Formats: sequence, structure tokens, C-alpha cells
Amino acid sequence: MKINIRQFSQDELKQALKDHGQQAFRAKQIYQWLWQHGVGSFEEMTNLSKDLRKWLEENFLILQIVQDTAQYSTDGTIKVRFKLFDGHLVESVLIPVPKDNRYTLCVSTQVGCSLSCAFCATGKMKMERNLTPGEIIDQLVLVNKICEEKYQHEITNIVYMGMGEPLLNYKNVIKSIEIISAENGHNMSPRRLTISTAGIAKMIKRLADDSPRVNLALSLHAADDFKRSQIMPINEKNNLDVLMDALDYYSKVGKGNITFEYIMLNHLNDTIEDANNLAALCRSFRVKVNIIEYNPIGDGLFAKVDTEKVDRFASHLTQKGVLVTVRRSRGGDIDAACGQLANKS
Ligand code: SF4
Repeated sequence: MKINIRQFSQDELKQALKDHGQQAFRAKQIYQWLWQHGVGSFEEMTNLSKDLRKWLEENFLILQIVQDTAQYSTDGTIKVRFKLFDGHLVESVLIPVPKDNRYTLCVSTQVGCSLSCAFCATGKMKMERNLTPGEIIDQLVLVNKICEEKYQHEITNIVYMGMGEPLLNYKNVIKSIEIISAENGHNMSPRRLTISTAGIAKMIKRLADDSPRVNLALSLHAADDFKRSQIMPINEKNNLDVLMDALDYYSKVGKGNITFEYIMLNHLNDTIEDANNLAALCRSFRVKVNIIEYNPIGDGLFAKVDTEKVDRFASHLTQKGVLVTVRRSRGGDIDAACGQLANKS
């Protein structure tokens, strides 16, 4: 059976070539073709000998995702839906901020999600499977082309914040980070990558050990266990004490920034008492709070908090010495905003 060649790191590819009596240094060239040029066939690897290309063809496959649809929001956000080789669909979102030269891509890591956060459209989908490293990176390669065409700029930042929980697809996510930051891959600094997690404490610690330079965002959304468990079932096994301990570890071992993501939900986590609880959690290590406006997903469970109240909440945090930004919702007209990804077109 042929093996998907894009599952290998460069070292693994070297080993595979060696094991079959091929020259190991060819791994670098193959790797560049696969990741820098994004080729879809061995035939296109023109600096390899015909014999080597034939051998590759006989033993390996290049599985790539293909663009299915693209939707353009009036605010510049672009949502792209991709079809995987087995027919499953996933989405990525490009969020451009041209005035800051910042073009952020939000990538998916799983088809569906098993964590069932109450405010999230993906959480209502069945968890189907993990994405491979290649399927994660293809989102970057393909949306980068759109970004260059539309904005004459390449993607500058990646957040693993689309469909799925990245830390539950740990091995593949780490491999994708390695390839994206490799010199022969995309040569993008890990400082420009952010892993966003619903909060799996032991995996946060592991990430600090394995990939200390990436940034970490915790989807906090409530600063006390009772409220958090109501909207995020994962909190039952990973309560705030355990999570803060893991983040403390991350802040000591890791070199990346830590952010708390906090979606404001009307009558749930929007009082001054909530802000005080949140400020208390920010005291133990350096962390920034990102307040996010809620995007209704049509189930009537939660409502958006009005803008003035959001601003009051944010300035209360600022008064308490917390570093805060308010992220106004983007791409809401095409269901591309935070928590809205569910393969609707
Ligand atoms: S917010 Fe993230 S972890 Fe929670 S259900 Fe949605 S995709 Fe899964």
C-alpha cells in the first residue's frame, strides 16, 4: 500500500530514503517541493532523477486538500471551505488587518469536535477524525495564494483556533508546527503561531516542553468553575486550579505569550464580579485578556452583550491592571466569526 509522503518530517523522510537504498540528501529537495512549492505530483519534482521519481511514484502518494468554496465578508474576512481526500469538509478563516500588515489565518485541526462547548457551532458537529499534518498545512498553502492575490501580502500569523481542539490532535499539530517553522518548509517563526485550547492541562504542560516558542491561548470564557462547567464540559476534568497550574508551568518553561480568550455572553459572564474573578486569575503570570463579542449560532441559547457593557467590563479590567483588548466580531455575515464554523455555505 502506498504511504502518504506528507506525513513525514524531513528526518523521517531521510530515513525512509536510506532504508530503501536511496540517497538521504534527496530528502531536502523532496521536502522543498512538497512544502515550499506545494506540488501535487512527483513528476513536477524536476531536479530529481527519473528513476527516483519513478520509485517515489511506486511507493508514495501526495494527498492534498482541495478548495471547495470561498466566501468573502464585507469586512475583508475570507472563509474557505476545503474538501479532504475522504470527502470530509473543514474550514479556515483569513482575517486581514492591512493597516497593521497583519494577515492572520485561523486553521482547523479536526473534522468536528468532541468537546461540545455550548456556544460553539463546531461543538454541535460529530467528531469525525483528526486532520493530518499535511491537511493542516495545506490550509496555509492554499489560503496564502488567496491572500497574495487579494491583498498582495502573505499570511503573517496562524492561529490553531478553527474547527477542533488542537491539543487532542497533539502529534499532528506538533508536526505541522515543525514543518511550518522549518527552513525548508515555510520558514515561519513559531512566535507567529498560536495554539488555542479549551484547556487540557497535561497537554499544555507537554506543549511547553515540546514547542516552547509558540504562543498559547486559553479559551477561558468564565472565571469561576461553576459558570465555566456550564458552558465548557471539559472544565469538569480540567478545572481552573489545574489549568492555572499548567499555565504557570507554561509561563516558566515556554517563551511564547499567553492569552485568555473571553467570549462575553449576556447574563452569564458579563458582571463586574465576573471581571473581578477574571482579574484575580491574571495575577499569577503574565497574560493578556482578549474579550470577544459573541456571534449567535442560531440556537437561541446565548445572546450578545451590548457594546457599552463590553467596554465597561474591559475598562474595569484595565483599572485592575490587566492587559485587555476587545476583539470586535469579524466575518459574522458569512458565519466565519469565532465559534461559528460548521461547514455552512
Ligand atoms: S470552542 Fe473549540 S473546543 Fe469548544 S467545541 Fe468549539 S471547536 Fe471544540
